[in-house]
Amino acid sequence: MKLKCSFCTLWMPTLITSIITVLTFLVMYTFLHHSLSEMLQAHKHTQELTKKIERMVSSTLNATFLGSEEGFLEAVNISNQIHDDILLIEKNDMYNTASLFDSYEQLYKKLISAVSYNTENRLEDTKAALEAVKVYTDTLEGRMNELNEYFNKREKEAEYTLLAMMLFFGSLLLFIALFNGFYLIPRQVIRPLEEFAAALQENEEKYRIVANWTHDWEYWVGMDKNIIFVSPSVQRVTGYTQKEFMQNPSLLANIIYPEDIPIWQQHVYEAHLPNRPEEDAQEVEFRIVRKDGDIVYIDHICRPVYNYDGTYMGVRVANRDVTHKMAILAELKEKNHLLDTLATVDGLSGLYNRRYFNEVFAREIERTKRTGNILSIIMCDIDHFKLYNDTYGHQKGDAVIKQVSDALKSTFSRAIDIVARYGGEEFVILLPSTPPEEVKKLAEQARENVAKLWIEHSTSKAAPFVTMSFGAACCTPDISLSGDKLLKQADDALYESKEKGRNRVTVAEC
Ligand code: GH3
Ligand code: MG
Ligand code: MG
Repeated sequence: MKLKCSFCTLWMPTLITSIITVLTFLVMYTFLHHSLSEMLQAHKHTQELTKKIERMVSSTLNATFLGSEEGFLEAVNISNQIHDDILLIEKNDMYNTASLFDSYEQLYKKLISAVSYNTENRLEDTKAALEAVKVYTDTLEGRMNELNEYFNKREKEAEYTLLAMMLFFGSLLLFIALFNGFYLIPRQVIRPLEEFAAALQENEEKYRIVANWTHDWEYWVGMDKNIIFVSPSVQRVTGYTQKEFMQNPSLLANIIYPEDIPIWQQHVYEAHLPNRPEEDAQEVEFRIVRKDGDIVYIDHICRPVYNYDGTYMGVRVANRDVTHKMAILAELKEKNHLLDTLATVDGLSGLYNRRYFNEVFAREIERTKRTGNILSIIMCDIDHFKLYNDTYGHQKGDAVIKQVSDALKSTFSRAIDIVARYGGEEFVILLPSTPPEEVKKLAEQARENVAKLWIEHSTSKAAPFVTMSFGAACCTPDISLSGDKLLKQADDALYESKEKGRNRVTVAEC
């Protein structure tokens, strides 16, 4: 999850507020500065003006008493400058100059008349001029007082303006702080952070539930071969705790069943080959020895893991306890074996059954055709067995079948010989690669072995004990050879033995 905290959402409002604050400050500062500089300008002008008037008065008085024309001209010159200054002040309307100007006009006129050389009443005029100077000085003093008041007033105004500015900026800063503190930061920072933290917690909770509730024993080995994670189910499967596994990364290797260590080593080698793709899962089965000593079968699947930018993050493993499955498999195997046996072996005699015989017989016929070897077959049947059952009972009859079967089996004891119960009290023996004379010899031997059992058969017309009749047939390589034909030949030979008085062997002509 990505935290949404961008320049636009968080910093833009603060920036705009700050710009407004700075601009307002600049405007107010300019206004105040202008006002202050205007005031200082007026003060400067007034001071300069006063000095000029003082100089003019002294020049005029010099001219008056000394009759100096130069003093007179200087007074006139200064007077003109003052006049211009006053006009300038008046024009700029910095303060009320009307009364100052009027009194100056009078002074000027009196001085002009006082300094005139041609006047007869010089003393009078000079007196009048001095009076005018006094009036002017008074007026100037009054004006200066007014100006002082004006400056005081402007000073107060400046103070108030400063106070107002401080209040304004203080409030603005307070507003920004409150806005950021109560709105912007909670909305743009704290809330997303809380949502982010909640999402993280939720994810972690999901991860914890997924990881900790796995039934299989799962773990993750990092790049440094240390265990990053192991599920709690490790204890159920191995008897060792999560902590024991985390602390000892080689614990698994140490509890592998000794016989399975090579399988494990080969697997570890293959699993840690570099650059294996993520989907390349390695599966292997082995046994481990639990902490309590029990043996557990493990189905181990491991695959490499990479993060979102393709960095190798180690190996992720799932170990499943398949002991129960293995027990079922073993049982199934046993049952399958039993089924196989039941499908091929006759229950009473323990010999192969007819179905199995037919299967092998067909294969042998084909092989004989291919190899050109001899294939022989013997059919045999217990003589007067109906009478035996009638005399001794069916159960005793079953026992005879079993005894005869054992006798036949011990006679035809080669691994390639197939002795089968063909049906009822009838048997068939398949003898691959056996020539006729050998077949006859073996059949005779079998007949003798059965007879030698000396099983009493009082109602038999062949002998006072249980006997068997045999019919054999042999075939040499023949393209037209068929199983049915060979069986028929053997059956005919058996019939002949029966016909000739039973308890004998007949070998059919090939
Ligand atoms: P033959 O000498 O001509 O062969 O006479 P037989 O009586 O042996 O022949 P028949 O075909 O007339 O009778 C076969 C008897 O075998 C009939 C049946 O009761 C008996 N039989 C067949 N299968 C079994 C079996 O599994 N157990 C027992 N006890 N008897 C069987
Ligand atoms: Mg019979
Ligand atoms: Mg029969």
